[in-house]
Amino acid sequence: MKIVIDQDRCVGAGQCVLAAADVFDQRDEDGVVVLLDALPPQESQSQVEEAAARCPALAIEVVAE
Ligand code: SF4
Repeated sequence: MKIVIDQDRCVGAGQCVLAAADVFDQRDEDGVVVLLDALPPQESQSQVEEAAARCPALAIEVVAE
């Protein structure tokens, strides 16, 4: 599983951080998403998928490897 984020689409809603705090963070200055781990462990998969599903801007893409 590989994660790709699009910071230009992100609206700083923070749903991704709520769903998977080990993988996503937000910039202090504007709340835009920061990817902490582009290749998270398999145990995080359901949380990452939930984050992608909850993102209102469709800024998170989960790529199967
Ligand atoms: S849920 Fe989407 S819009 Fe909200 S901070 Fe995360 S990536 Fe950005």
